[in-house]
Amino acid sequence: MQDVLVIGAGPAGLTAGIYAARAGLTVDIYEKDMPGGQAGRTDRVENYPGFAAGIGGPELCMAMAEQAERAGAALHYEGVAEIDCAGRRVRTAKGWREAAQLILALGARPRLLGVPGEKELTGRGVSYCATCDGALYRGRRVAVIGGGNSAAEEALYLANLGCEVLLVHRRDALRAERAVAQRVLENPRIRPLWNEQAAAFEGEKALCAVKLASGAREEIAAAFVSIGREPDTALVRGQLALDAQGFIAAGEDCRTGVPGVFAAGDARAKRLRQIVTAAADGAVAASQCIPAKEFCEKG
Ligand code: NAP
Repeated sequence: MQDVLVIGAGPAGLTAGIYAARAGLTVDIYEKDMPGGQAGRTDRVENYPGFAAGIGGPELCMAMAEQAERAGAALHYEGVAEIDCAGRRVRTAKGWREAAQLILALGARPRLLGVPGEKELTGRGVSYCATCDGALYRGRRVAVIGGGNSAAEEALYLANLGCEVLLVHRRDALRAERAVAQRVLENPRIRPLWNEQAAAFEGEKALCAVKLASGAREEIAAAFVSIGREPDTALVRGQLALDAQGFIAAGEDCRTGVPGVFAAGDARAKRLRQIVTAAADGAVAASQCIPAKEFCEKG
């Protein structure tokens, strides 16, 4: 039996792995996809301390994964199908794995718009990740839906690929942080459509247009929906307290109501979801798994 099982290898899970392994605990990290989670699909990270010129999200996350493995954490590319919080065990395709403590770094997934055509055209023009799919639409006319940091960054990424970008936002101001918003507003390839909503996606075999709530119809080759994220907490529903949006109700100490089970990163209920706060959660959660004296000595 391991000392710690970490579920999710985004910045929270990887940092938890680094801290727990460096403290001498045996750690297994389970990840269904690539390391990095949402951060690993971000083209450029400009606000993570230490990288004045910015750093690619995948590059930053791969470095975190390497650091976790060097510290002694074992990274398993196995999806977790079931989590038994009270029993502190998880089931993967290879069977049940137990540990003294569980760190849930479950992350979040894209929120869907829920409009006609969205499901049918996903993967055929409707996408949730410009970094993943943008290159397919180089130089074309595309739309980004949303007004937060992710939408702004996706719009800039696509503009940089030579796309003509319609930025469809339901209000008249971006939620994105000022420096990024400014770059969006100054970019001649990005045209914001304020106070507007995507009402439907149209296309037979592939997306060809977005119908807007105002009644307008814009021909586009792709739409990148970027309207926030929802926590990936379905596997712990009914076992842990969740807030109204489904985030795990754990405080700054990352403790859930179940002894030995901690929540870290974007799936935890909190105000600021950034790579740096996810990493901080990972460190805090791991520190809770380490006896106090040992943590102070090994830092
Ligand atoms: P977000 O900040 O929650 O923004 C979501 C955007 O989508 C908002 O502009 C919101 O409009 C809009 N929206 C939500 N539901 C909608 C709907 N049903 N229809 C139309 N529009 C809708 O989400 P995010 O941009 O994915 O970012 C998530 C978190 O990660 C944030 O904390 C963000 O700061 C952080 N993040 C940080 C960075 C960075 O610092 N480099 C990069 C990416 C993400 P309203 O504005 O009207 O609410």
